[in-house]
Amino acid sequence: MRIPTPTKFYARCRRALALTHARSGTSRYCVCCDRRSRRFLPMGDYEYNRREDAKCPWCGSLERHRLLWRFLSNTFDLAENTFEVLHFAPEPCLERLFQHCTKWRYLTADLYAPAMAEEDITQLSFDADRFDLIICSHTLDHIPDDRKAMSEIFRVLKPGGVALIISLVDPSLSQTRSGPPSGAPARERGHECIRIYGNDLPEHLAAVGFQVNVIDVAKELTREEQILWGVAPKSNPTLLRHSDIHVCRKP
Ligand SMILES: [Zn+2]
Repeated sequence: MRIPTPTKFYARCRRALALTHARSGTSRYCVCCDRRSRRFLPMGDYEYNRREDAKCPWCGSLERHRLLWRFLSNTFDLAENTFEVLHFAPEPCLERLFQHCTKWRYLTADLYAPAMAEEDITQLSFDADRFDLIICSHTLDHIPDDRKAMSEIFRVLKPGGVALIISLVDPSLSQTRSGPPSGAPARERGHECIRIYGNDLPEHLAAVGFQVNVIDVAKELTREEQILWGVAPKSNPTLLRHSDIHVCRKP
């Protein structure tokens, strides 16, 4: 049996106490796991991008997952739609929910992480015009040839189908640039971010053929709902945006 060092032991105890404390209350609600908590856990490694009320202490959902589920359940009849769905780089908290959409033909794909299909998003093996709905969250900013990835998503989507793209966006940038966000470590929690999108992300998506509509779902909630869901708008408007949904329709 490996005995942890005192530093690691105390760090584990602190994490366990923080988790227990966060779970022991009812002032937050996670739609992904249908559970209440005192508060969500903080996320972000660097000061300007830190979110204090972000991660569900039960299922690990983040703001973008809760908002995406809200958008999906408000936009589609999830119990009745017989969609062919591709979920790229599937997040477990959403994957569990999507399993309940029993009329979906649901497929997950990833190149590195466990998924139903092993797929390179820049070279998908699927036929053209196959999927009604594609979900791709916080993936494109890790792909060297993101234009090719966008083209592939467009190719495998049915005409009239919708791709929901979520990515990290720096609202202070008019143009996307290479490299991680300013002041951030090159590697955040093990995930290399090789570019930071600016306000021109919709133009990049439109360039491959999509009709793009950007939706901030949090704005559609009441102030009370925003606090309950842990998605209240940040006081600093220059903070990186995590949750805007780029609704990309294939004409
Ligand atoms: Zn949860």
